[in-house]
Amino acid sequence: MEPSFHGLKALRLQRQWSLDKASQKTGVSKAMLGQIERGESSPTLNTLWKIAQGFELSFSQLMANLMPDQGIGDREPFAPHASGLAVKTLIPYDPQMKAELLELTLSPGCLRESAPHEAGVREHIILLRGVLSIQANGQWQALAAGQVFEFMADQPHAYRNDDAEAAALFHNLIFYPQGRIS
Ligand code: MN
Repeated sequence: MEPSFHGLKALRLQRQWSLDKASQKTGVSKAMLGQIERGESSPTLNTLWKIAQGFELSFSQLMANLMPDQGIGDREPFAPHASGLAVKTLIPYDPQMKAELLELTLSPGCLRESAPHEAGVREHIILLRGVLSIQANGQWQALAAGQVFEFMADQPHAYRNDDAEAAALFHNLIFYPQGRIS
């Protein structure tokens, strides 16, 4: 089922932002934002992260706002078309912890590159099943199931599944030390 992102318009109007202003804040074109609001286009993961950053929301906060008809804890994994990655919120953003926990499934042979998050953001990757390599500080680190890897995510980073057959299942505990609007 294709998810609907109609919550974006309500979120933008709540901020009293024009499409122009939202475009300036997020770095996503006005045309693309308009298409997402009207359900004419599904955003990529990179676009979603840009929107989250521009609206000063964590990833799980953004998803809860964009897809308000899906209850927290009862969330379908979100799998952007052709990305090879599915994302699900396990623990929604907690303002006391300034953190959230996501569950990710990366398809066999897939590489997912991520733009830097805002200054100070840290990721803890916990590999549950399969094999996974993480690129941080320009270096690749291979993880085995059960291993934990922490890195500063305010720089380019990437996730890669080198297995040809099995998906990699991992948790991503993301800290936002500057906090998010809640
Ligand atoms: Mn990331």
